[in-house]
Amino acid sequence: MKAINYSPLISRLDTDVQRAVRLRASDSCEACGVPLDGSGAFLPVVRYTRDPLPKAVMTSAANVVLVCRPCKELTDARDPWMEVLGFSHSRGNDPRLEPMVIPGRRGIMTVWRGTDGLYHSEPPDVSD
Ligand SMILES: [Zn+2]
Repeated sequence: MKAINYSPLISRLDTDVQRAVRLRASDSCEACGVPLDGSGAFLPVVRYTRDPLPKAVMTSAANVVLVCRPCKELTDARDPWMEVLGFSHSRGNDPRLEPMVIPGRRGIMTVWRGTDGLYHSEPPDVSD
């Protein structure tokens, strides 16, 4: 059995990462699109990993989503739909490789969260 690696608490999230995620999300809930105007909650997508990942990945924008209160409550309650949409994962994979479905200007779209704080249209090459 592989060791479980606990990701650092989201409360210690770097302010630069918070700023990048708000910018990426246009300060709206990434799950439902409601404008947040500076409110909302930052949540880790992957809290545990099977394989130890660098702290720089686990505390990066790739592992953080910005959500409104109702979407946070759904995620906290382990709503299976929030996992289907990619906003939480009990599986514990690399957050860079977990897509999420977000409301876009032309309908829903599937994106990957980069450590750079941007959305990407394909998963990154994480082979080192
Ligand atoms: Zn929401």
